[in-house]
This record gives sequence, structure tokens and C-alpha cells, in this order.
Amino acid sequence: MALNDKKIKLYNTLSREKEDFLPMHLEEVRMYTCGPTVYNYPHIGNYRAYIFTDILKRYLKYSDYNVKHVMNITDVDDKTIRDSIAQKKSLKEFTEFYTLEFFKDRESLNIEQADIYTKATNHIEEMVQMIEILLDKGYAYKGDDGSIYFNIKKDPNYGKLSHFKLEDLKNNAQGRLKNDEYEKENAQDFALWKAWDANDGDVFWDTSLGKGRPGWHIECSAMSIKNLGETFDIHTGGVDLIFPHHENEIAQSECATGKKFVKYWLHNEHLMVNGKKMSKSAGNFYTLRDLIEKGINPIAFRYWLYTGHYRTKVNFTLESVKGAQIALERLIKAFMPLMDVTNGIINQEYKKEFIECMDDDLNTPKAIALLWQLIADVSVSDSEKKSTLLDFDKVFGFGLDKVKKLSDEIIPEQVLAIAEERKLARDNKEFRKSDELRAEINSLGYEVKDLPNGFKISKL
Ligand code: AMP
Ligand code: ZN
Repeated sequence: MALNDKKIKLYNTLSREKEDFLPMHLEEVRMYTCGPTVYNYPHIGNYRAYIFTDILKRYLKYSDYNVKHVMNITDVDDKTIRDSIAQKKSLKEFTEFYTLEFFKDRESLNIEQADIYTKATNHIEEMVQMIEILLDKGYAYKGDDGSIYFNIKKDPNYGKLSHFKLEDLKNNAQGRLKNDEYEKENAQDFALWKAWDANDGDVFWDTSLGKGRPGWHIECSAMSIKNLGETFDIHTGGVDLIFPHHENEIAQSECATGKKFVKYWLHNEHLMVNGKKMSKSAGNFYTLRDLIEKGINPIAFRYWLYTGHYRTKVNFTLESVKGAQIALERLIKAFMPLMDVTNGIINQEYKKEFIECMDDDLNTPKAIALLWQLIADVSVSDSEKKSTLLDFDKVFGFGLDKVKKLSDEIIPEQVLAIAEERKLARDNKEFRKSDELRAEINSLGYEVKDLPNGFKISKL
């Protein structure tokens, strides 16, 4: 299909509309994702953001675009400094541990690698240069604490992404703020460069701006522009990043370069728990490890996310993700027998419908319904079915091309139910019953290991 015939529609937070996607360079889509702040294990709400980015990237590739994807690793900010000091570790040792954990999770969720991962601590020079330009152009000033702030009153476009009333924002903007995170009621001049203070310990850089470290927002502006150019196609993140982080990225970048920063701003909605955003600070979070300890395969979580559109809030319950695991089990059972069938041609009617779903701002709930329709369709031959399912899976990323491995890793519903009954028995100190249930699990070809908050089941 000719690229310029494609009509992918994506919802752009800038215009608050679904727009036809037209990249700046037909041969390459350039895309940036705000990556993890590596001060702890990410929670599964964070993974909603990365799985959304992954299916977007997979679909662009499926649509014949080459994609250059850059993701940053925030390895210096208020939280990484605070927690590394508390644990008496160097910032490097502390953040490298969580960076590796993030990469392990990425692999188990089958999230494709970014083309470039950029660490903030490797780009201090670029950040300093950008701040120098903002100072020269009069958009930034040095506060009496030695830190350098962006003057939001100087930027006529400040507020254009978050669509807050500019006047309200600016009227609020009395004074300045050194913290990276704040609400719109506190819109103020924000820190580009934070002068060293005792809380920073030995984390600082001696630069032309003085002894200190960068603010969080300038990190993403400098790293994205360095790797993707002054204007690029897509920037992604969760809706909580719209303000202040992305608003501030636009302000710094556009005032420094005098050019439009990003064409399409795409944001995923939140993963919720009982009506509240899942977050570290609310304490209502699960990590991927927590799910695995409850017998849930990471790919089942991926499947579950697709059953809601990325722009709607979804409420997390263990029960609903277990339901998704049962659906994934059924998908595997339907696909396994097709592995021995020779590949056929891709069914063009189904492919056309699949493209229609995905072109419409990545409508995964409709695409998942279509997948089941295809599986049940007796008029499609097995070889066509196999090839069409494998074709869809390039976008879904369940890993059907390695279905045997996936099948071995998924704990059958029956085994999971017995393991849960056994946990209950153990919690109630009914050890005889618990031993009997363990034997039953073994007889089904699995073994169970107890963990502090759950269990781990594996094939015998
Ligand atoms: P952070 O490490 O806090 O910067 O977050 C990493 C990514 O996860 C960002 O894109 C956030 O917007 C996103 N995020 C954080 N919490 C949630 C949530 N509960 N649901 C969906 N995305 C989230
Ligand atoms: Zn960012």
C-alpha cells in the first residue's frame, strides 16, 4: 500500500481532535516517549503507558512506516537523589539496578526495544547549552538561590497543550518553584537548572550555569531534540504528564529553537484502582512481580489492556485480569493446532477490517472482537487463519509465533484455582489440606513454590 494513501487517525492532545497522521518525512516516523524515573520498580499503571506506545509503534511499522523511537531513562531527579542517599548508594549504582529491572519487565511484556535509550546523566552538556540559549533570549533568569528558572510570562503560547486558560495560569504564576511536579493551581516559573543544596549530596555538575543539576523537564527537551531533531512527529506519555511536564517541554523547546517542537501529542489514560489513579504515592499499586506472584502472565495483562481503549480510564481488578488470562489461554488453544498447518495467504477481508479498527485511533477493543470472529469463522481455511492471526499478532504482540513457549508459561485456570485454594488453606494453617492440594497440582504437571505474598507456579 502506498504510504500516502494511509489514513491512520490519531487523537492529538494539542488540537483535541482525531487527526490524519502525516509524518514529516515519509521514509521515517520520529517518536519520543517519556521513559521511567528509575528510583523503584515501575507499577503496572506505568506499563499501560509503555504498552500503548508499543502497539502504536507496532501499528506504524505494520503500516509500512520506518520508525525511529527514542525513550529516555530519568536517572537524575528529586526522587532518584532522595532515595539513593537514603539507601547509601551512589546515584549510578542505585539507578542502574532499577534500569535493569525495567528492561527485564519490558522483555516479559514483549514490548519492543526502543531504537535509542538515552540517560539524562549522559546529556548534561546538551541541557546546559539549551538553558544558555534560553538565558540569552531572555526567557530564563537566575533566581537569588542560584537556580535558573523559565519565565512563563514571557512565552505567549504557554498553556497551549493543557488548554488551561492562559490568563488563569499566568495570574497564578507568582514566584517560582524548584519542585518538578505541581498542579495547575501552582503554575509558576519552573526550574531549568537547580543550584546545588545539601539535600543533593554528591550529585552535581560544575558547569557554566554554576554547580547544580538539571530540572526534569529540560532533560526530555534536550534528549529528544538531540536524537530526533528540533521538530519531530510523535511524543507520548500518560495524561498526568500533559501538565506540567509536556507543557514545559514545549515552552523550553519552542522558545529555544523558534520552531514547532512536536506535531502529534498522544496520551494514554490512567489505570485506576477503585476510582483512583494507580500511583506510588497513593500506595494502591501492583508491580509486574506482584502479578506474576498471583499466577498472572504478563502477556495476559497486555491482552487485558487491549480490551479497553487507550484513551479511556480502566479499572484494575485481579479478577478482571484473571479473566483476560482465561481468554488468552483460549486463544492459545485455538492457535496451537494451526502450528502444524502450512502457511496460507492472509485473508484480505479480515485484514481490511483489522486496519479499519486500528486506523481509528487504535481501536483495540474492536480489533480483539475481530480476532475472535476470525477464530470462530469456519469459512476461513486453517492455513489462511494461521497466516492472518500471525499477521494481526505483529501488532498485538502476544508472541503467537512462539506459541509453544507462551503456552508453557501460562498457568492453566484449573491449576491456578487449586493453588489459590491451597494458599487459603495455608493461611488458615490447614497444612494437611494444603499438602493434598500441592499433590494435586503436581499430578497436573505443575509445581508450586511459596513466596512472601503469593506463590510461583512452574511446569514440572
Ligand atoms: P513516571 O515514571 O512516573 O514518569 O511514569 C512513567 C509513565 O507512566 C508516564 O508516561 C506516566 O504518565 C505513566 N503513568 C503513571 N501512572 C499511570 C497510571 N496509573 N496509568 C497509566 N499511566 C500511568
Ligand atoms: Zn519526559
